[in-house]
Amino acid sequence: MCRCVLYDGQMTGAVAVVPGERRLAGDGWSMHAERVEVLGAGGWRALIGIRRGLMLLVTGTGRAAELEVEAWAGEPGQSDGVAVVDMGNAGLRIALVPLCGCGERGCGNAGVQLDKPLAARELPALAALLRELPWGDVIPTRSNVLRGGDLAALPPSSTGTRGGR
Ligand SMILES: [Zn+2]
Repeated sequence: MCRCVLYDGQMTGAVAVVPGERRLAGDGWSMHAERVEVLGAGGWRALIGIRRGLMLLVTGTGRAAELEVEAWAGEPGQSDGVAVVDMGNAGLRIALVPLCGCGERGCGNAGVQLDKPLAARELPALAALLRELPWGDVIPTRSNVLRGGDLAALPPSSTGTRGGR
């Protein structure tokens, strides 16, 4: 019996991964993945191409509807990380995280790169948002990047009501 589909059809908000079809599917949505890896214990990892120069590495567990999402310019760990920068009145921009002077990719990315837990049902909205944001000519730092829950709270497009400002 094939156990490849890590989704029992009951868990609302969970994600099904279909490695043979390189596809992620949730409640009412489906996304193409560049590749899908099935990990142990019901876990999986998928690389999703959002737009030119922006990939999302999405990691899921078999039990939770919460995902871990990281943004990269290309191949995870080998390309620059991507951050979402809050430019204040100018709005949000996506920007590359430069390689730290020490040469450690993770060092420069820590606390700067878009790297956050996300409810599975919010993945399509995050992907849609990242597809629309302009690239910014700005160096992401810990003080200007949008962090954690803020990003999940953003509307998927410009039609939203962010913060009522
Ligand atoms: Zn460093």
